[in-house]
Amino acid sequence: MLTSRTSVYGLIGDPLEHSISPQIQNAAYAKMGLDAVYLCFRVRGSVVKAVRAAPILGISGLNVTIPYKSRVIRALDAVDELARKIGAVNVIRFGEETAGYNTDVAASMRVLREVAGDDLSGRSALLLGAGGSARAMAFGLAQEGCAVVVLNRTARKSARLARDVSLHVPGASISSAGLNRRQLERAIPRSDVLINATPVGMYPNVGKSIVDSAMLRPEIVVMDLVYNPPATRLLREAREVGCKTIGGLKMLVYQAADSIRIWTGKKAPIDIMLSEAERALRNFAFQQS
Ligand code: NAP
Repeated sequence: MLTSRTSVYGLIGDPLEHSISPQIQNAAYAKMGLDAVYLCFRVRGSVVKAVRAAPILGISGLNVTIPYKSRVIRALDAVDELARKIGAVNVIRFGEETAGYNTDVAASMRVLREVAGDDLSGRSALLLGAGGSARAMAFGLAQEGCAVVVLNRTARKSARLARDVSLHVPGASISSAGLNRRQLERAIPRSDVLINATPVGMYPNVGKSIVDSAMLRPEIVVMDLVYNPPATRLLREAREVGCKTIGGLKMLVYQAADSIRIWTGKKAPIDIMLSEAERALRNFAFQQS
């Protein structure tokens, strides 16, 4: 039962209609016996003002999503070192000070290790995109010792990402270029891991994929950060080729579990959160059909 003592957590971003974070988080709180609730707060004005007002309203913690992961930094008293290097915060904890963290890096590397193996060092990773999630992945991959190639539609953004990673990760091997067929044909045969960190293939554009499946070979591990649908066209085609594949749902759940740990110091029930996430996506698909 919600009372005046219930702790309030939430997600800030815009748009948020398609978010399944409330289902994932609230299922975890119920299982953990926490007197807490998780809500979506669509922010249409100043995100800095919204974050500064949150502790005044008694909100205990927030997740941050598109388009505010960089902009919120201005509203924070403290930002952990990794989030500062990446330039993106996806978890805020309100306490004596308002502190920002990035859990996307640890979550994405954990998922990748589960499928590609514990030792990622020396592997070649091809990253498509240079937005917030690609930045987190580029730093994570470089820290793991992967050689990274970043291809992005806007080439100056992939160049900036490569420069930032080189600056902050000692010994990083990273290069960048624009995203086009010629660059894909050059980079894919040299890659052990291919990651889509763009929204291409996401609902409602489920028929789209950046990669022509004829370019894939079975040895490549293919990861797509898109989680709606759970199997994008890229992943379906990669499976047909014989590649190991990773969808975006587990990463979403792992970063949600890390948020709960940061806010409460407690371990979150990953299995319950994952089955709730799958259920929420099935409901979403059913409502659209
Ligand atoms: P973002 O910061 O807005 O960046 C989007 C990136 O995708 C940019 O590099 C953009 O290129 C590129 N892009 C957009 N449309 C494109 C198109 N039609 N063709 C080629 N490139 C295109 O977004 P984000 O936060 O990184 O999120 C990217 C995706 O990852 C989203 O689908 C999001 O839902 C998903 N995601 C999943 C998780 C998870 O836990 N599974 C976590 C974070 C994000 P330009 O620079 O040229 O605009």
